[in-house]
Amino acid sequence: MAMSKFEYVKQFERDDSCLPNCWIVVRIDGRSFSKFSAAHQFIKPNDAAALELMNRAAITVMEDFREIVLAFGQSDEYSFVFRKDTQLFKRRASKLMSNVNSLFTSSYVFHWPRIMGNKELRYPPSFDARVVLYPTDKNLRDYLSWRQADVHVNNLYNTCFWNLVLKRQMTSAQAGEKLKGTLSSHKNELLFQEFGINYNDEPASFRKGTTLIRKLAPDGNGKLKPIVVSLVDDIIGDRFWKENHEVIGLKSLATYQRLTATNNST
Ligand code: ATP
Ligand code: ATP
Ligand code: MG
Ligand code: MG
Ligand code: MG
Ligand code: MG
Repeated sequence: MAMSKFEYVKQFERDDSCLPNCWIVVRIDGRSFSKFSAAHQFIKPNDAAALELMNRAAITVMEDFREIVLAFGQSDEYSFVFRKDTQLFKRRASKLMSNVNSLFTSSYVFHWPRIMGNKELRYPPSFDARVVLYPTDKNLRDYLSWRQADVHVNNLYNTCFWNLVLKRQMTSAQAGEKLKGTLSSHKNELLFQEFGINYNDEPASFRKGTTLIRKLAPDGNGKLKPIVVSLVDDIIGDRFWKENHEVIGLKSLATYQRLTATNNST
């Protein structure tokens, strides 16, 4: 087709392809979910159905985008890790990010009625998204460890906060003041002393978030097919990676440890 005289405007588009060899992480996060969760009466601090809906939307994304090797979710956020050698959308950041985000968001709305029961969706939710590149396996593991550590910090705080608000009738300001500057050990102590709650007995999915990976399982004809499985596991320690490095595409743990012992280039 001949060039129209308008087509030069195409040259204004910039190349935003992701650097080769890097892990590509797309992280989405609910926009103003403090407000959204209040408007939809999410159970505080953790609404199990709302978390299931996040997981369901993320599974839909992983089932569609086969180049995603792992996803990790907590609260109103999900991180999606693309294989480091993916050529999807020529690695264009805006394409990867916008396609993941829009499929996630539409799936969240699509699955809402089934998972949230008869709770009416009162307005359209939206999510922000970013792309971050991690050049080494260590960087990727540290990124995921950071997100899982964040679940723990937030959940411990929120569990204290909402117990104070719901069971001691404190205002948000009073509960916030009581928790200001407290260490983890103080918060564990407070839960136990005041509410008889042993934090470690709280549901693991609330404390550890949800990890999605692919595992081989027999299909209807007995053939092995990769399916997306949802795990509640510790992804900070080495065991998870020892068991799953192959499906994720990380170096073996022994190689990883040898290389990280000498330098940061793994
Ligand atoms: P921003 O637009 O900057 O992300 P935000 O209000 O979404 O603002 P976040 O830091 O993302 O801020 O926090 C998410 C909020 O959503 C928290 O208040 C959290 O308690 C709430 N939330 C998310 N998921 C759930 C859930 N399953 N149950 C209860 N509350 C939830
Ligand atoms: P890509 O993912 O690359 O965008 P695509 O199939 O969406 O692939 P487009 O170039 O965006 O490709 O073309 C949009 C397609 O959707 C065309 O085939 C177009 O005919 C069809 N389409 C979009 N809107 C309508 C509409 N209102 N009525 C009929 N067909 C439509
Ligand atoms: Mg935020
Ligand atoms: Mg948010
Ligand atoms: Mg968030
Ligand atoms: Mg199109």
